[in-house]
Amino acid sequence: MADCPFCRILAGELPASVVFRDELACAFLDIRPVNPGHVLVVPIRHASNLAELDQQIGGHLFRVAQRVAAALRSSDVRCEGVNFHLADGAVAGQEVFHVHLHVIPRFEGDGFGLRRIARRRDLPERDELDSIAEQLRGLL
Ligand SMILES: [Zn+2]
Repeated sequence: MADCPFCRILAGELPASVVFRDELACAFLDIRPVNPGHVLVVPIRHASNLAELDQQIGGHLFRVAQRVAAALRSSDVRCEGVNFHLADGAVAGQEVFHVHLHVIPRFEGDGFGLRRIARRRDLPERDELDSIAEQLRGLL
């Protein structure tokens, strides 16, 4: 879809710090991370919501997210635990209408919670995102 930012990333029209890609899914760093190393896992084929998502691909997204979580735990990213989060629909907090599974590294005292999602004001530079992405690529 031409106006979908994730389709544009997948088409190479917008930059992304990619950590994994195969024929069905792509994982890249969130540009508005809850914590450093926050990754989004998306299907290559556009699906606006879970109802449009092929279940086999949904299963694949989870498998990729599980591998990303293991890579985060092995990386230099501060990661004492992991949250998976998927917002399906605007009322659930979905902002980009291309299905995406959040993989969020957690650590003691990070202040993140489902009811009070902290947004970093000091957005990371691309080289910081690329640096984390490069390490995760090597671990996947
Ligand atoms: Zn899309």
